[in-house]
Amino acid sequence: MLTPISVDSITVDAFHQFAIAAEQIAATTKRLTKAAILGNYFTTLEDEDLRLAARYFAGSTFPQFDQRVLHIGGSALMSALVIVSGAEPDTLQAELVKRGDLGDVAADVLSDAMLPSLRLSEVGEAFAALVEIRGNKKKIAGIVELLKRATALEAKYLIKLMSGDLRIGLREGAVEDAIARLASQPVGKIQWVNMLTGDVGETAVLARHNQLDTARMNLFHPIKFMLASPVEEFAEISSRMPEGFAVEDKYDGIRAQVHIGSESSDRSLHGTTIDNVRVALFSRTLDEITNTFPDLVESLATVETDSGLILDGEIVPIQGERILPFQELQKRLGRKTLTDELLQSVPVAFVAYDILYCNGKVLIEEPYAVRRSLLESLHFDTSRLKTANSQRFVDVSKLEQEFQAARDRGNEGLMVKHLQSSYKPGKRGKDWLKVKRAIATLDVVITAAEVGTGKRSRFLSDYTFAVRASETDPTLLNVGKAYSGLTDVEVQELSDWLKEHTIQEFAHGRVRTVEPKIVLEVTFDRVQVSKRHKSGYALRFPRIVRIRSDKPAEEIDTLETVRQLAAQLDDPHSS
Ligand code: AMP
Repeated sequence: MLTPISVDSITVDAFHQFAIAAEQIAATTKRLTKAAILGNYFTTLEDEDLRLAARYFAGSTFPQFDQRVLHIGGSALMSALVIVSGAEPDTLQAELVKRGDLGDVAADVLSDAMLPSLRLSEVGEAFAALVEIRGNKKKIAGIVELLKRATALEAKYLIKLMSGDLRIGLREGAVEDAIARLASQPVGKIQWVNMLTGDVGETAVLARHNQLDTARMNLFHPIKFMLASPVEEFAEISSRMPEGFAVEDKYDGIRAQVHIGSESSDRSLHGTTIDNVRVALFSRTLDEITNTFPDLVESLATVETDSGLILDGEIVPIQGERILPFQELQKRLGRKTLTDELLQSVPVAFVAYDILYCNGKVLIEEPYAVRRSLLESLHFDTSRLKTANSQRFVDVSKLEQEFQAARDRGNEGLMVKHLQSSYKPGKRGKDWLKVKRAIATLDVVITAAEVGTGKRSRFLSDYTFAVRASETDPTLLNVGKAYSGLTDVEVQELSDWLKEHTIQEFAHGRVRTVEPKIVLEVTFDRVQVSKRHKSGYALRFPRIVRIRSDKPAEEIDTLETVRQLAAQLDDPHSS
């Protein structure tokens, strides 16, 4: 049974009501009940408040098309909470270790004497002001001001929102469900409009007024990426795609989505403009990466487009016409300042392999074959902008040779794509299959770090890492420890991040458990059964191949993959 939210007509726009709805949502595990509570709450709000509440429940403080983000680090929020609560830092730290969430800690330690007075619109204004503040001290002061106006319960949700995650078991999907309920519309239509507008708040308001059909594509906000599944044997390809398939090289770079369109005067949009053309680049984690590739932006701005273009593809390091190994690109990533020298010594190209929008039309529901011929009709072939090669095959027997040829061209392997498949944002299906290199690597997440030795004794440079228990069970199980493979600059930057995102310190800060967010690709000689780690396995001679800043921690490898590798690498007959 649902508990209806008691709302009196004067206080519906109170942030307090938002917090109460959030509490009720957190208290249930059922997705449908969560959506129903949210739907009820939404019906009580005026349009402007609905816009904010829908965004906040989807976990973002600003619309996705807006380049502003408010991800305030744990240590700034902690400093603010120390000031507002008057509690000892050590006490709060100990509470944080126990509760795992600073918002929960705030609700426990703040006094409950305040009467709720904050309105949703005031929270919106405070967030907009906070995002403009530069400098840690001033930012902390701004947070303190906001928290002082809040009750303990409100502070709990303000802190969660400012840290970028509500952690009440709600995904954007449930917010879309709630909007569908509010407007009695099919959820598919809500998802479609949310993808077009890049603003779940705007989508909610359009839905309420029965105006979903008026939504048009807004460029310059990321669309979720379609993902691929690994394939073990070529036979699987012929059974899934008996009528033929497309084969592309699997480029080893970083995934990127490119938006190109005519200039818009709205300065808060993502991207940058050159000669009245706006260009934005987004990573697979939907973060904006335009500024990391100024040299690419210049080339992309010369592409002719009538009414905008969205491309999906890979950024790769190049030398003339040749694609270089990913390691070359690594030199450019994570650098705070990109000197001209660096840009010239590591040039990059964008290899387009899909097209999602062109000539005013959203193409994701078109089959691969149609999208591909549209992509080819754009005739990209400058040194900086290329179209991925694509061949049609019916017979899998030629794939072995193709795989080798792709490897010889410096690529990771092959991608096999279903000719009739639509582009499915955010889905890892079997319409795209990846055929990867034989060398064993695992994508893992750092769970703990320790200071190193020698010249690395000032940094947290030894990392303990984990895999997920399974696709459905996010429990992290440690499988190994590694300290080699990263450059000095990477070690230094990672060390700063790990200090900032420490959960618990041991041995005077020399060993720390950390927020499990940094994904590493590691390689190793063998996987052994071992009691040393929780997973029951240990990697022998692990080395870090790279930091996978393009991969979220939810997508790391699972214990099952570790098990398979242990069996494979133990078998002397396996390749
Ligand atoms: P993985 O990162 O191993 O899960 O493999 C999937 C990734 O391969 C995608 O996210 C892309 O970054 C990359 N990739 C490289 N070439 C292609 C291609 N031709 N089509 C699709 N994805 C590709």
